[in-house]
Amino acid sequence: MNAESVDVLIAGGGIAGLATSFELHRRGVSCVVVEQAPRAGGVILSEEIDGYTIDAGPDSLLVQKPQGIELCEQLGLGDRLVPTKPPRLAFIQRNGRLHALPANSVLGVPTRLGPFIKTGLFTWAGKLRMGAEWLVPPRRDPGDESIGAFMRRRFGAEAATYLAEPLLAGIHAGDVDRLSVRALFPRFVEAEREHGSLLRAFSRRPAAEHAGSVGEGPAKAGHYAQGPEEAGPSVLRGQGAFRSLPGGLSEMVRALVAALPAGTVRLDAAVTRVMGHGGTGPFRVEAGAHAFAARAIALSTPAYVTAQLIGDRDAELARLCGEIQYSSTATIALAFRREALAHPLNGSGFVVPKVEGSGILAGSWLSSKWPQRAPDGRVLLRTFVGGARDRAALERSDAELVTLSLAALTPLLGITGEPLLTRVYRFERASAQHEVGHLARIEAIDRALARHPGLFVTGSGFRGVGIPDCIADGRATARKISQWLQEHAAR
Ligand SMILES: Cc1cc2nc3c(=O)[nH]c(=O)nc-3n(C[C@H](O)[C@H](O)[C@H](O)COP(=O)(O)OP(=O)(O)OC[C@H]3O[C@@H](n4cnc5c(N)ncnc54)[C@H](O)[C@@H]3O)c2cc1C
Repeated sequence: MNAESVDVLIAGGGIAGLATSFELHRRGVSCVVVEQAPRAGGVILSEEIDGYTIDAGPDSLLVQKPQGIELCEQLGLGDRLVPTKPPRLAFIQRNGRLHALPANSVLGVPTRLGPFIKTGLFTWAGKLRMGAEWLVPPRRDPGDESIGAFMRRRFGAEAATYLAEPLLAGIHAGDVDRLSVRALFPRFVEAEREHGSLLRAFSRRPAAEHAGSVGEGPAKAGHYAQGPEEAGPSVLRGQGAFRSLPGGLSEMVRALVAALPAGTVRLDAAVTRVMGHGGTGPFRVEAGAHAFAARAIALSTPAYVTAQLIGDRDAELARLCGEIQYSSTATIALAFRREALAHPLNGSGFVVPKVEGSGILAGSWLSSKWPQRAPDGRVLLRTFVGGARDRAALERSDAELVTLSLAALTPLLGITGEPLLTRVYRFERASAQHEVGHLARIEAIDRALARHPGLFVTGSGFRGVGIPDCIADGRATARKISQWLQEHAAR
């Protein structure tokens, strides 16, 4: 098979791979993106059905992590970015009722007294324990810790059960007792270290400053829009913490592909083998009927695929990549006549703590959250199921997933009519889990990669899960590749 020569071969046409190619193209480096699916975008998929605009996967770009917004602006989509609709409330289910997440909170932890005292979400004992965070001595152990352990230690069991657990399940489809506080909430760790208490730190600096980073804080509290989208006005600055596009986030994917030279993105071709060594000659990459000779390679595939593709050349690197866990989830879109729901739908949605025993992790009220997602007089909802809490969810049929969604939503929202439309979207092993020890694993991966000149990895499994982080890492990877190519050519 004749191999097509390219400077850079990118495996995987999700947002990370597309961002890598966009940045390479800006730097005048030619590349080809090989994607196994018949469409680009990975988990980003928007559909227009019967006047409804449905984001099957992600629907929100976090403003505080500007790389998503910046990329949209560079793609000429800046004017199309839309904020969430007010009142921008987010809810948490407790005892079968929905409670608004207190305003001015960071991962649901209130940073001001007023909203905290008023909320019915916590018992008085729970509120007192959370307030006592001021007095909890800082942890001296520099090692990593789970977010659950961190929250229990600092804010008590109720905060872990009714805030951290459902928010992390609703955002990452993750297990709060496995996800790493250092990887996902580095500023919490920093605030504890520097100020001895998060509440003390937040009282000194605006909560928004703490909320930033890799989807932290209120932003995080619903970051992926499955649940509470925004915890209050602290980071909203008038327009809300998130943006989307009227046609859904696939607009960004289409604009990215269109910004690349024709033929850059090759669909329906799975990379199956990577041979050769960069530095001493080109890599040879096989992808179905195609073969490429590439000076450098960026693997932007899920980490378990990356592990398979590099297994032959470095067993240790493959093991490290293979250790990164992924959760499977499904989203179920449901449309109704407005009058079929008694609830005012006055917010973006809700998350469900595990102890509530519901079949769903979260529910989004997409037509209340974003403008023009449903025709007049109709509402569009979406549930989120599976994740670390319900690993067998994807074994259920579409009809079963719709039934369990309706069973969860009906008592909460007072649903009386039948859905006008239902759609089930499955995301098999698509949600990367940055578990305790993740940062140490990434350092080990970086050390191992140094043994392979010209080989780069990116994507949500590695340095950041949210779309802005995947874009940032893809672009940073492109800069490294471009520099490597220059140095390599110079030798
Ligand atoms: C349901 C859901 C909702 C989310 N909501 C949000 C949100 O609102 N905001 C937000 O910021 N983030 C959200 N996220 C997270 C974010 O969308 C993802 O982390 C991010 O899009 C992942 O991008 P990626 O390119 O790393 O991976 P992917 O999108 O998984 O792309 C990887 C690509 O590699 C391809 N591939 C795999 N194997 C091969 C092979 N052998 N050869 C070629 N190609 C291959 C796949 O087909 C896929 O297209 C959400 C995630 C999910 C699952």
